Amino acid sequence: MTTSRNGAQSLVAYAEEKLAALADKRLTRRLVPTRRGEAARAARDGAALISFCDNDYLGLSQDPRVKKAAAEAALEYGAGAGASRLVTGDCPLYGALEERLARMKGTEAALVFGSGYLANVSAIPVLVRPGDRALLDERSHACMFAGARLSGAHVETFRHNDAGDLARRLAAARSPRALVLTETVFSMDGDRAPLDAIAAACEEAGAWLMTDDAHGLGVVPGDNPAPVQMGTLSKAAGAYGGYVCGPRALIELLVNRARGLVFTTGLPPAALGASIAALDIMAREPERGAKARANAALFCRLIDAPAPESAIVPVILGDPEAALAASQRLSEAGFLVAAIRPPSVPEGTARLRVAFSAVHQAADIERLAAHVRAILREAGR
Ligand SMILES: *Cc1c(COP(=O)(O)O)cnc(C)c1O
Repeated sequence: MTTSRNGAQSLVAYAEEKLAALADKRLTRRLVPTRRGEAARAARDGAALISFCDNDYLGLSQDPRVKKAAAEAALEYGAGAGASRLVTGDCPLYGALEERLARMKGTEAALVFGSGYLANVSAIPVLVRPGDRALLDERSHACMFAGARLSGAHVETFRHNDAGDLARRLAAARSPRALVLTETVFSMDGDRAPLDAIAAACEEAGAWLMTDDAHGLGVVPGDNPAPVQMGTLSKAAGAYGGYVCGPRALIELLVNRARGLVFTTGLPPAALGASIAALDIMAREPERGAKARANAALFCRLIDAPAPESAIVPVILGDPEAALAASQRLSEAGFLVAAIRPPSVPEGTARLRVAFSAVHQAADIERLAAHVRAILREAGR
């Protein structure tokens, strides 16, 4: 042992103190082993549940064709990549996957990263530096903020989906470069960004727009005017990995400068094979995305909520304890639905986040809606 006893003791004391503070606020999280299966089934703690909280919007993570492609890629190319992409980790499957992504997004080129998180924290610091500005929609994902902070640029937020507020902020200060970051579909609210208005504000100010399509790919159709479009292969594509699509010169620059590409091992071939199969299914079977949205729309009609803009429906309860209790009650009824509390969402907007998939059955959505209606009625909402 090289760690001194005292060092280890103070480490344990530090961790225990931090955990006690979380427990005081009832914010302790724990891992729950969950076995996922076809048709949104999930088994956990001995109970059989239907999941309405994963991001497998098209059911592709359990699709036999996608699983087979993953297995075949592993058998053909090995279990791991062996090195970073710049050394020997650039498995031939990368090229096929990146070609498909660029075609889907209508960009010159694409680059696959280890995950969506890694794509954001790696690409943003290549685009902006100290002295530049990064302007983010205030509801942007944690990894966009992480990438912006890591870049050393001045980080600011603009009001959620407010292109006017963005335009005023862009006009208020000058910098060599300004990068605007937003999501196409917001992960906790399920609403969509007004991309045309935001792109116009960027154009006017000479700022660059980068969008995060984590919850849009395969689910929400539509043109995206952003020159830099990132996303993940871990949600609707059912596999694992992240990507950045954009002009060829930018992609070449990222290959040279993105630290989360240069200094990390390539993806396991199985993940690449699965993503290729999943994107091919998405292209051939667009009805899957439409079905996920239709399922969300059915649920909204049944609980008298406004029509959804994506496959994500927030059920706002306000109080964090009420959201936790609702999630617990639904789990007793056989449904896995995540309770989301501050700081993941603004104070006073604790909620259930209900995520729909193409593989959900109408009868299950109707049963879930009946329970949620009762919860809302009792909460006086
Ligand atoms: C999930 C998510 C990511 C991260 O993607 P991973 O591939 O899971 O790392 C990035 N952005 C948004 C908006 C997300 O919801």
